[in-house]
Amino acid sequence: MSRRHLVAGNWKLHGSKDLCNDLAGALATYLNEGSSPCDIAVFPPAPYLGTVAGIAGDSGLGFGAQDISEHGGGAHTGEVAGAMLSEFGCTYALCGHSERRTDHGETSEQVARKVGAALEAGLTPVLCLGETLEDREADRTADVVLSQLGAVIDELGIPAFEKIVVAYEPVWAIGTGKTASPEQAQEVHALLRSKIAETDAIIAGQLRILYGGSVKGSNAAELFAKEDIDGALVGGASLQADSFLAICKAAPVVD
Ligand code: PEP
Repeated sequence: MSRRHLVAGNWKLHGSKDLCNDLAGALATYLNEGSSPCDIAVFPPAPYLGTVAGIAGDSGLGFGAQDISEHGGGAHTGEVAGAMLSEFGCTYALCGHSERRTDHGETSEQVARKVGAALEAGLTPVLCLGETLEDREADRTADVVLSQLGAVIDELGIPAFEKIVVAYEPVWAIGTGKTASPEQAQEVHALLRSKIAETDAIIAGQLRILYGGSVKGSNAAELFAKEDIDGALVGGASLQADSFLAICKAAPVVD
């Protein structure tokens, strides 16, 4: 089954109005030219979502938040609810990025509730998961990623995956310049898809599974050539239009 790729840029804690204008502006212009082989989205820091919304206009540039509250509203200082993100025109929310799991102690169960909150607000959650170097060296990769995926299955069930994007991001590859080999990534992507396929082959066949971890223009095509890799979640290389667009242009054209 061919799936149209999604290339998503996570700006992390980088951004300014100038960056929004330059980068989101260049991406919107590229999309307006009408020949992108993939869907494109950016995840700026929350204060810039409104600016990016204005720049994206009707270009088709997707955008979303780097995090979402598991709560719909109430006494939760500092949190941003899914409905607020929807009101700003967001279509996506990252859930469970490894930096959130590490820096903020987000558990897989909490991440699963955030995925639920995103769905509730009509957003597409991008469920991030992946193993640490220690896990990989101890041969625990499959156990770790299946447990992270399992928390979402337990919370929301397999049908929810019709509207979820998964991003496999080995922690040891994020921001390190060390990319998983296409074979290493493919092995995990196939495992994740097969877990969903155990219950529903159609949902599994449609599920987009992105790879993240030091993706660049020079390694994107070989990753995208793998059967179960349906795009990329990109950090560092997403901060410049040229390097990000090089990754987007490496996506295969899907009918
Ligand atoms: C990320 O932030 O999710 C990421 C994959 O970063 P980088 O591309 O810099 O490794």
